[in-house]
Amino acid sequence: MLYIFIAIVLLAAVLIFNATRFKAADSAPRQPEKVEINGERARQNLATLVKYATVSNADYDLTDKAVFAAYREKLKELYPVVVANSEYKELGNTAMLFKIKGRSDKEPAVLMSHYDVVPVVEDRWQHPPFSGEVIDGVLWGRGTLDTKITMVGIMEALEGLLAGGFVPENDIYLSFGGDEEVAGISAPAVVDYLEANGVKPALVLDEGGAVVDGVFPGVDRPIAVIGIGEKGMCEVKFTATSTGGHSSTPPKHTSLGNLAQTIVNLENKPFKAQVTEPVAGLFNKVGPYTPFPLRLVLGNMWLFKGLVCRLASVLGGEINAMMRTTIAATMAQGSKQGNVLPNVSEARVNVRLLNNTSTDRALKYFQSLCAEDVTCEYVIRQEASPYASTESDAWRKVEKATGDTWTDAIVSPYLMIAGSDSRHFSRICRDVYKFSAMHLTKEERGLIHNDNERIPVEKIDKCVEFFHRLIIQL
Ligand SMILES: [Zn+2]
Repeated sequence: MLYIFIAIVLLAAVLIFNATRFKAADSAPRQPEKVEINGERARQNLATLVKYATVSNADYDLTDKAVFAAYREKLKELYPVVVANSEYKELGNTAMLFKIKGRSDKEPAVLMSHYDVVPVVEDRWQHPPFSGEVIDGVLWGRGTLDTKITMVGIMEALEGLLAGGFVPENDIYLSFGGDEEVAGISAPAVVDYLEANGVKPALVLDEGGAVVDGVFPGVDRPIAVIGIGEKGMCEVKFTATSTGGHSSTPPKHTSLGNLAQTIVNLENKPFKAQVTEPVAGLFNKVGPYTPFPLRLVLGNMWLFKGLVCRLASVLGGEINAMMRTTIAATMAQGSKQGNVLPNVSEARVNVRLLNNTSTDRALKYFQSLCAEDVTCEYVIRQEASPYASTESDAWRKVEKATGDTWTDAIVSPYLMIAGSDSRHFSRICRDVYKFSAMHLTKEERGLIHNDNERIPVEKIDKCVEFFHRLIIQL
């Protein structure tokens, strides 16, 4: 009895010790030097660029190529100093690639963005989506958040720096795609080109996380989440067959019934949750700022890993999606008429993969869960990216620029659940980061790909400031 009591006291002491020792690495207040940026010009230029309806289409022939070409010309016209100080190339269907020569070509960096946008349903907008109107300090329009803003942030910061005689330590490449939203060929073309020319970037930064509030229980400071990887994606088609005929003499299970059983099997046996590297990194950075009971758990993951994994399943949402390969049944089709038995039924399942689950492994797992007379195959497949380092110089540069721009934010790695063009760069670079340099409210995040996309103009200034702070370190 005494031994049990001593063991419990010891365990409690270890847990509390770990939770209190669990200190924030960046707890010292940040007091960065002020930087000079031209906010007014950035606002005007973003408003100008939003006026170009650069809506991409999966079928390139249906794309308005003239508007894309006009956009590219306008961007160059707006930033003459960048143009005068760089080599410029167009690659793939729509990619713009600038190279600004640094003192060395040893550790080049690539700053990315895309200038295509998703379609709009114009009559659902309170202000026209391609007019670039500023109303009460808010710039309205498609692309203001996703992501002409980061393109302007990069160009504006460089324009100011180069005009002042700045020469970067290393070569800087700017890679802007015009078909990201339709998974086009432009970003892969840039990667092919860089690879063929022996360019091995030390750092790549593209859209991704943001500075966000209220996403972690009990944490009242904003968190700047920087993606260190992105999930893979595959779409799997399930096909069930049976003899057709009249619905008045049915078999015990129709092909649609077998298909439904398969989907139920998948949903009942999800992939296991795991504390992946980005999630461990997030817990480590944010944990010290959580209230005590949660800090006790996050500071003692050696003991509570299982509990956290189970909690993730119950809570669902983004943390859960970062911790497991997820599946979502999205489409199904049986017979085309109510009184006809289906010969063939089909369903589609959309899968988002962690990087230790290959698309092949996922398919094998699904095959093991198929009901009678059901088969499955890929329609689309794309592997997850490897994780970038959070110990490298490249990470420290992005972390510093972020912390110096949003001085009250906790800067943390995370796993990007959506996809971006930067996944192609993992082929030539380990440290590919995904961060959209904006502090966004939950409502603003909801405007991405939605009606009434808009940005408060002061956030444009902060975006420029971030890129200025990053570029001076490159
Ligand atoms: Zn985007």
